[in-house]
Amino acid sequence: MTNPLLINHKLPPFTQIEPSHVVEAITHVLKENRVQLAAFLENETYTWDNLVIPYTDMHDRLERIWSAISHLHSVADTDELRDAYNESLPLLSAYETEIGQNKELYQAFRKLRDSEEYAQLDPVQQRIVNNELRDFHLMGIDLAKEKQARFTEIKLALSEKSAKFSEHVLDASHAWNKYISEEEIDLLAGLPESVRAVGQQNAAQQDKKGWLFTLDLSCYIPIVSYAENAKLRQEFYTAYTTRASDQGDFDGKWDNSTLMRELVTLRHERAELLGLANHAEYSLSTKMAESPQHVFDFLNELAEKSKPVAEKEFVELQTFAKEHYGVSQLQAWDIMYYSEKLRQHCYDISQEDVRPYFALPNVLQGLFTIVQRLFNMVIKPHEGNVEKWHDDVQFFDIYDINNTLRGQFYLDLYTRKGKRGGAWMGDCIGRKVDDTGVRTPVAFVNCNFMPPVGEQPALLTHSDVETLFHEFGHGLHHMLTQVDHALVAGISGVAWDAVELPSQFLENWTWEKEALDLFAHHYETGEKLPDELYQRMIAAKNFQAGMATVRQLEFALFDFEIHAHYQKDIDIEAVLNKVRQQVAVIHPPKNNRFANSFGHIFAGGYSAGYYSYKWAEVLSADAFSKFEEHGIFDPQTGQEFLTHILEKGGSADPMALFTAFRGRAPHIDALLRHSGIVTETTV
Ligand code: ZN
Repeated sequence: MTNPLLINHKLPPFTQIEPSHVVEAITHVLKENRVQLAAFLENETYTWDNLVIPYTDMHDRLERIWSAISHLHSVADTDELRDAYNESLPLLSAYETEIGQNKELYQAFRKLRDSEEYAQLDPVQQRIVNNELRDFHLMGIDLAKEKQARFTEIKLALSEKSAKFSEHVLDASHAWNKYISEEEIDLLAGLPESVRAVGQQNAAQQDKKGWLFTLDLSCYIPIVSYAENAKLRQEFYTAYTTRASDQGDFDGKWDNSTLMRELVTLRHERAELLGLANHAEYSLSTKMAESPQHVFDFLNELAEKSKPVAEKEFVELQTFAKEHYGVSQLQAWDIMYYSEKLRQHCYDISQEDVRPYFALPNVLQGLFTIVQRLFNMVIKPHEGNVEKWHDDVQFFDIYDINNTLRGQFYLDLYTRKGKRGGAWMGDCIGRKVDDTGVRTPVAFVNCNFMPPVGEQPALLTHSDVETLFHEFGHGLHHMLTQVDHALVAGISGVAWDAVELPSQFLENWTWEKEALDLFAHHYETGEKLPDELYQRMIAAKNFQAGMATVRQLEFALFDFEIHAHYQKDIDIEAVLNKVRQQVAVIHPPKNNRFANSFGHIFAGGYSAGYYSYKWAEVLSADAFSKFEEHGIFDPQTGQEFLTHILEKGGSADPMALFTAFRGRAPHIDALLRHSGIVTETTV
């Protein structure tokens, strides 16, 4: 066998993998898995050892190969690799559907759960069995024949209609643009050079002089934030907020209204087929939040606390616009513009001001020191050769206090051609324990920072530093796990609304002076980040926090209302308006059709789940507040976070884990305090 993907390496053989190996390896593994599945389903009785172990191994074998391939696709893409990757996708999805609908496999898990052995399994093993049964149930596997047919129809219709929804938004966005000729240059007043350059480039591509602006966020955001001409802002705002609706320029072409109603209706029907009251219950069956009422209470409490602050901030904004610009009535398209002016007026701070204090080598050392002080883990560069996909990539080991190797990670920090944008943590190898011993988890930590120029080290913005800490938090969750079963070790099997806890949690240390003093030193003078600059950073962070919060709550409540309180012939626009009456401080014009392009919930995976953004913020802020109480480097609290959260991964109920760490259920207070919505004395 010469295919390196099929040889059992300790770490992926990155330098040997060729695009031509990809489809061959995937085909081979899928075939092997199918043979193995058929073989163990032959058993008369099912036990942990003859069912769950081989089932996990199948999964694991595929994961290991696919993670190396998809990682290369993300960080070192070529045309050939992309083709091979895309050719593999349908093979994988056919295989997944086959497994998800395999009745014999489902029955095998049921038999195990009903067997005498089940009671002897430990709680983690029982959880794995129940997770599988839950997922089979949610796939509709135990429905009667007729219902199953309908279930399949719904599934198909949902994916078609979601795709159509996105297409409409995309088409409507692309159909609209604004051309500004050289004679109209005055219209550009206030716009930053970067967006003018984009406009000019767009125009040049159509052999035009002047500027051509689209509704892409890279044009839209700067225009509504900086264009001095209010009519221009209004034009963009109106076009943007009426996309894919019955309003705007296109006579309802691409109107999503019917699709939205159909999607919500189909989701409701699917939930009912599965014996649930509504789609909100369906969504929560795999999440940390316990019930729809739990989510409503959470959102309403946040709204109650934030709205008065948002109102105050809005009055401030109105007063500012009136005093400084003579504008007595703020329109929807004025909000971002005057907010930006107010922000500059109050906190004259730009990301560029702080860059010299965040030289990458210092930041990295600071991060490692913080991890050491919190969790007693030592991070050092790996000695010896490791195959990498690029020279810039580094490889590190994490050792605990007993000098046991706990995890390893690849660090790939700079932006370059062939690497996708953004930052993410990827699972390279998961922890598991079997006859051969402990398999150490390995992570990919990826960012897209500007590379160093000449002699000067890479200088990060504060938001880059936050990003690095965020991804490293996910990495620690993956690498420090002590769970022996791959299906719930590390980030595997962690509820979706709990998975951002460790990542957002670690970000907190980038906002603490005591932590910053460890590493935020001027790269030339060695001077620590000045207090005055630090204070401005904090103030700028909380600027309009109340308004931002109620906006997120408006989206989250709207999403949850339409799914938890679904009614036949639901009037989606009316629900949104009702929610706005409750929480919003900015009331958009009547032709605003925001919901018609709200892809997160109508096309993405966030339906009845948009609340998760705030939920995760509450968890991480509240977890951090325990450190505020005991000291941000308190080793005891660090140890508790390690043992209750990081080491446990998906092996137990996330609410139970959180409660074990915090000593109580999560509270919203810390988040309100951290974002300046509630001051210290009022909590
Ligand atoms: Zn994250």
